[in-house]
Amino acid sequence: MKVTIFGSGYVGLVTGACLAHVGHQVTCVDIDAERVERLNRGESPIYEPGLDTYLASGLSEQLLSFTTDAENAVADADVIFIAVGTPTCEDGSADTRFVLNVAKTIGKYLRRPSLIVTKSTVPVGTADKIYEAVAETLAYRDLSIKFHVASNPEFLKEGAAVNDFMKPDRIIVGVDAPEVVDLFRQLYAAFNRNHDRLMVMDVRSAELAKYAANAMLATKISFINEMANIAERVGADIEAVRKGIGADPRIGYHFIYPGCGYGGSCFPKDVRALESTAKQFGYEPQILPAVESVNSRQKHSLFSKLAGRLGSDLRGQTIAVWGLAFKPQTDDMREAPSIPLIKSLLVAGARVLAFDPKASDACAEIFAEYEGIDFVDTKEAAVTEADALVICTEWKSFWSPDFAQLRRLMRGRLVVDGRNLYDTALMAREGFDYISIGRPTMA
Ligand code: NAD
Repeated sequence: MKVTIFGSGYVGLVTGACLAHVGHQVTCVDIDAERVERLNRGESPIYEPGLDTYLASGLSEQLLSFTTDAENAVADADVIFIAVGTPTCEDGSADTRFVLNVAKTIGKYLRRPSLIVTKSTVPVGTADKIYEAVAETLAYRDLSIKFHVASNPEFLKEGAAVNDFMKPDRIIVGVDAPEVVDLFRQLYAAFNRNHDRLMVMDVRSAELAKYAANAMLATKISFINEMANIAERVGADIEAVRKGIGADPRIGYHFIYPGCGYGGSCFPKDVRALESTAKQFGYEPQILPAVESVNSRQKHSLFSKLAGRLGSDLRGQTIAVWGLAFKPQTDDMREAPSIPLIKSLLVAGARVLAFDPKASDACAEIFAEYEGIDFVDTKEAAVTEADALVICTEWKSFWSPDFAQLRRLMRGRLVVDGRNLYDTALMAREGFDYISIGRPTMA
């Protein structure tokens, strides 16, 4: 099938590369000319395991191309995906301007019947707005072309995006007419062989399903973080509690790891956007704002723990930070817990030595105007002469460090671990003052 995708970010690019990988003819449109040029040279603007290989093969087999030319890309397409960003507005709602701009562009260039699909996470009712925007633009051109607008929310996880796309848990499609389902079956045939993963529903349910999924996942994280905060105060160990509750199959072990708060481009903005949608429709949500406020507080917990030991005036102190990305296996810094931590450290006068295997450049852009932070190439360089080490992201290379070397390199003994990577007794034996999340500190 001929597929056009608007937006070559995490979602659009992965969708394009994977659809080309199974033989579809894919054109990706982006307004960022530099990004388009780089992509046509085979350079991915994002780090995502496996993506480079798919990008290279898509380009060499001429099944994948990148362009800023929306006109030709729309004119020929059987299916047109919208995968542009939906950031947060000041009032917390989702900003659908980019999506609706694309809808107008599609209306401007549409020449034959087509299926328009939202991959972007959009508030309930956006498909109707897209339909109106396209229809209005077509009417302005004095044209009547049949088209459908469907919702096909994306559930990939950054860091495992290619694998998630190739082996989806489910493919949710929200449709307004039964004939659209056949198009989706053709499009996703290669991803749907083992068993039928296609879940067909109405458009609004599909739009809400995406928000409900992210809100549920964010709730699990804030819930376990709330338990961790209680555990700290009552002298319990959250890791024991986590295992204890996870054994109940109604709860399960997945996604109940305590930590320094969730970040990324999705959970924070989607929880806020869903709250905003609910209010817009006259419902005052209770759980969603609580999930958000527990998370905001959690993001500040690393600094509080550190300041509890070293004081809040950190002038003359060097603090190492391991892990900057919002999670491992990505270079995405959006809403990463490392950002508020580093800001607080710098405000307190500390010198920060930061290391991340992939996200240093993206983080350096965020802190371009700040003084007192340096990005180093190894985790060892970060801890050299450091008074304390703070861990924000659980990259695999942090799990089993050489503790004797760490002791030798560091000036201080304080390790504040936002991801509970190490055994507390082991850290005490190794001579560290080790503070983690929701676990007793051992002397
Ligand atoms: P992104 O910011 O990485 O990429 C968006 C891209 O769209 C950019 O390259 C931008 O230049 C381009 N763009 C903006 N306006 C355009 C236009 N008019 N025409 C063509 N291109 C345009 O965003 P993302 O992380 O890929 O997210 C896209 C959507 O998918 C969002 O709604 C997001 O919530 C959703 N989503 C994201 C993830 C994720 O893990 N990142 C997962 C599932 C769903």
